[in-house]
Amino acid sequence: MYRHQWQNKQFTNLPTGKVVCIGRNYVEHAKELDNPIPSSPLLFIKPATSLVAFDNEVTLNAALGEHHYEAELALLIGSKIDAGTSAPLMHIAGIGLALDLTLRDLQSELKAQGHPWERAKAYDNSCPITPFVPCDENTFAKNIEYRFWQNGELKQHGDSSLMIFPITELLKEVSRYFTLQPGDIVLTGTPKGVGSLAQGDKLKLRMEQHPAWHSEVILK
Ligand code: ZN
Repeated sequence: MYRHQWQNKQFTNLPTGKVVCIGRNYVEHAKELDNPIPSSPLLFIKPATSLVAFDNEVTLNAALGEHHYEAELALLIGSKIDAGTSAPLMHIAGIGLALDLTLRDLQSELKAQGHPWERAKAYDNSCPITPFVPCDENTFAKNIEYRFWQNGELKQHGDSSLMIFPITELLKEVSRYFTLQPGDIVLTGTPKGVGSLAQGDKLKLRMEQHPAWHSEVILK
């Protein structure tokens, strides 16, 4: 059973909640999938059952089809954010990295039919997530950068300063519709470089402000 962890591998006291995801928050990623640049954040939700620790091994359900990765900065919500919250950054307990796994072929089919994407985005184990670095007053003062490698090859480089909608704006927009509760996660969108995964792949995520820290897994 997944539980949120700190970088030192201690479990947090926070419950496991929903994962609110932002689609198309980087211009270059919207372009690579031939999607328009959105004028307001595109939102969708993964349930708590999508969460799995990005640690040692992650098992993908091959029967569902080909899984694609999207590496994203993840925000761990420490206290409630709703439509009336004026300074939402103060309510973030930690930052980590996650893969927003996607069944891309199925997603394209569902989109073409005008159907919701849940089957392609919200399935079990579709959100492998690293331990979190606790937030302090400096965390969001500078840009946050991260990198993702597949089998030793750099595939994605994210930088919060390149987001179409910055983090404060995302949290304000999300909380107009969905109250964020302690233990919820917000994924902030993926940069360019998304692609498919295969069994046996070695995956690595690293946050550049914490170079000594990284997480690696092997896919089963
Ligand atoms: Zn995504």
